[in-house]
Amino acid sequence: MHEEILGQYNWWLVVLSIAVSILSSYTALLLVRRMMQTEGAVRWKWLLIGSLTFGVGIWSMHFVAMLAYKMDMVVTYKAWGVTLSVIAAIFSSFLAFYLISRKERRWFHHILGSVLIGLSIVSMHYIGMDAMEMGMRIEYDPLWVALSIGIALAASFAALQLFTISANVKREEADYTNLKWWGSSLGMGAAISGMHYTGMYSASFHPMEEEKISSAVPVIDPTLLGLCIAFGVMATIGFLIKLIAFDTKMESTTDRLHLANQMYKSIVESANDAVITSDASGRVLSWNRAAERIFGHRKEEMYGKSLRKLTPGPYEEGDLSKMVQVIGRTVELEGLHKAGHTFPVELSLAKIDDHGKVFYIGIIRDITERKEAHARIQELVFKDDLTQLPNRRALYEYLFESMQKEKSDASSAVMFLDLDRFKHVNDVYGHRIGDLLLSETAERMRGCLDEEDLLVRQSGDEFVVVLPEPSEGEARRKAESIMKAMALPFLIDDREIYMSVSIGISLFPKDGHDSELILKHADTAMYQAKQSGGNQYVFFTNQISAMISRKVQLEAGLRKAVERGEIEVHYQPQIKVSTGDVIGFEALVRWRHPHLGMISPAEFIPIAEETKLIIPLGELVLREACVQFQKWVDAGYKVERIAVNLSSVQFRQPSFLKVVERVMEETGMAPRHLEFELTESIVQDSETAIPVMHELKRRGFTLSLDDFGTGYSSLSYLKDFPLDTLKIDKSFIQTINENYKERAVVDAIISIAAKLDLSVIAEGVETLEQLEYLQGVGCEEYQGYYFSPPLSSEKVWTLLKKCALSQ
Ligand code: C2E
Ligand code: CA
Ligand code: CA
Repeated sequence: MHEEILGQYNWWLVVLSIAVSILSSYTALLLVRRMMQTEGAVRWKWLLIGSLTFGVGIWSMHFVAMLAYKMDMVVTYKAWGVTLSVIAAIFSSFLAFYLISRKERRWFHHILGSVLIGLSIVSMHYIGMDAMEMGMRIEYDPLWVALSIGIALAASFAALQLFTISANVKREEADYTNLKWWGSSLGMGAAISGMHYTGMYSASFHPMEEEKISSAVPVIDPTLLGLCIAFGVMATIGFLIKLIAFDTKMESTTDRLHLANQMYKSIVESANDAVITSDASGRVLSWNRAAERIFGHRKEEMYGKSLRKLTPGPYEEGDLSKMVQVIGRTVELEGLHKAGHTFPVELSLAKIDDHGKVFYIGIIRDITERKEAHARIQELVFKDDLTQLPNRRALYEYLFESMQKEKSDASSAVMFLDLDRFKHVNDVYGHRIGDLLLSETAERMRGCLDEEDLLVRQSGDEFVVVLPEPSEGEARRKAESIMKAMALPFLIDDREIYMSVSIGISLFPKDGHDSELILKHADTAMYQAKQSGGNQYVFFTNQISAMISRKVQLEAGLRKAVERGEIEVHYQPQIKVSTGDVIGFEALVRWRHPHLGMISPAEFIPIAEETKLIIPLGELVLREACVQFQKWVDAGYKVERIAVNLSSVQFRQPSFLKVVERVMEETGMAPRHLEFELTESIVQDSETAIPVMHELKRRGFTLSLDDFGTGYSSLSYLKDFPLDTLKIDKSFIQTINENYKERAVVDAIISIAAKLDLSVIAEGVETLEQLEYLQGVGCEEYQGYYFSPPLSSEKVWTLLKKCALSQ
């Protein structure tokens, strides 16, 4: 037995060897885990690299550790021994890793795995030791050898235990700082290092005499060599770790793509909308379930077929060149079902340019239901309930659209129709009959029009007709035929009702460039037709427009006229036929307009009535007339009466009687001198008129009926009214000497008046002949230009003085 050589440990290299063992375990385990996460042939790649790393790792650890153990001699290695030791380590770790990475792992796989790992470490160590040539015999202490093997087995078991736990962690959650992970690497490192150093402890080195130390062998500093190997291994390990990280990332990207693709497919398949992809020429590449449902074509039937199959020909929309225009937008088109019917669809189209290869993705929605719902709403919103005609909203929509087009050659005519005195029908027969009359009217009008003409119920008894591209003659013809149709009596509930209509017509673009103006002008023309007595049609003209704008001007001016003192009252004398004496005056209002001069009441009274300005205006006239009358009386003139005209608007005013009372009080006027001139429009509303008339009579006023003979009212009702005087309208007087019919009317009025105990006054007497005739038939009073026109108050003073002098 030779003397034992004891080596010295270089602690730096010891630490380094341990570090190498831990790091290579770490890397090997990382590779194995990577392998467990992959599928197919790549698994073997990872397994191989993992076991290579582990085997080389153990070997480098061993090598560095041997270098760390300094014995004063040269050590060389037997090539086959080294190779064998490495191969043994690699092979058994390969088997071990294979076992523990199996999907259906059992406990014995685990045990077998750790045995194999342990074996690879142990075999590496002892075969490696045997491969050393250093002129020394190594003797082993069996107990320590056993212990070293035990350490290798136990530590690798523990390490694998930890490894399987950490390897089970999901990829996303696992990271390189995972403690269990490091634990298993440390365990593995401990298995290798612990085994090695225990193994070294079990060995004793004894020199062999026959072997001389060859000084010819170049000696490399073992520390340097150790460092080189350790760092080389660690660099390799670092590279491997990076490789794994890169591969993991790559794989997760492809995974994500795969996943995204999978998701896309399931979304597309479960989508409610047809999702169709096509190539640049419009051949179908994909066709989802919804597309099958919506268009009726099966997937197999559509692949490679043209998209044209989906649109009803010869529509251009199916044309791809056209389709390109809708990219990025949503458009409504007609779709063609396999069964042959068409239906409305909504298409959103996207273009995909994959390196010059063009694809289209179309999302197509069947909007039949939406369209139907929309149509139902349209019907509710745009239809008139009573007549089933389109309503005003529909009209505006239509006009707006058709005139918006701004086609220079486009033209249209708008007719505004208004039933004459429809209110009367409603008042007399009630609303039910009124409604029936309106429906029948709608039918008759529709019957006079062509299909492309639009007939609308504007409101109440107003209708509008739009004739697309008519000539003036056509508009005229249609207006006439409507008037003719309306002239036939309406038979409603066994009642015969006569109706007429006033029509205003304006032409686009001659009479206006937008729908609002055209409609307004038609309305204006209709108003003119009404003003001229109704039952006629009137084309809009600029004169009408001028008239209307004058009306608007007057209306605006009238409001201020009352405050600004532009209103005057003139007085026309009333004469006793038998004596020629002035017995009274009729107060007649005058408006001295600052720009337009004197304006006739015939023009502004209707405006004042429309705007209710007649109420303050009438009160002003009444007060002025009373004040004036009192002045005459106070001056000692014997004037019997002052007559004041009343508008129906004034008369219907609930405060009317109070106003009269107040004016009487304020002016000190005695009611018996005041005569109110009522028009037929006042007395027609007999229910409200009669009590007020009685009240006026009770208070001592006198009442006369103005313009008698012109109205529609019959003579028979005269007896019901508490009247004092009938005023024969000037139209009868003026033709009295030419026309025997007029004479007959005047005669009749005078004799009826006599029977009803009413006095009679004739107005508008312009000639002596007229006066003489009235004298002959026993008319008591008259007024007219023959004696005097209406006079300003100053002129009345002159007249009164003259009359007083002549008396
Ligand atoms: P009216 O009540 O019938 O008044 C008579 C109209 O005949 C007056 O016209 C008068 O100037 C005109 N006249 C008098 N003599 C002759 C004649 O010999 N020949 C002709 N051709 N005409 C004659 P005026 O003043 O223009 O008044 C027109 C109408 O305006 C009045 O008709 C009346 O209905 C209304 N009016 C005038 N003043 C008032 C008023 O203060 N209140 C109300 N509510 N209406 C008034
Ligand atoms: Ca009058
Ligand atoms: Ca009159």
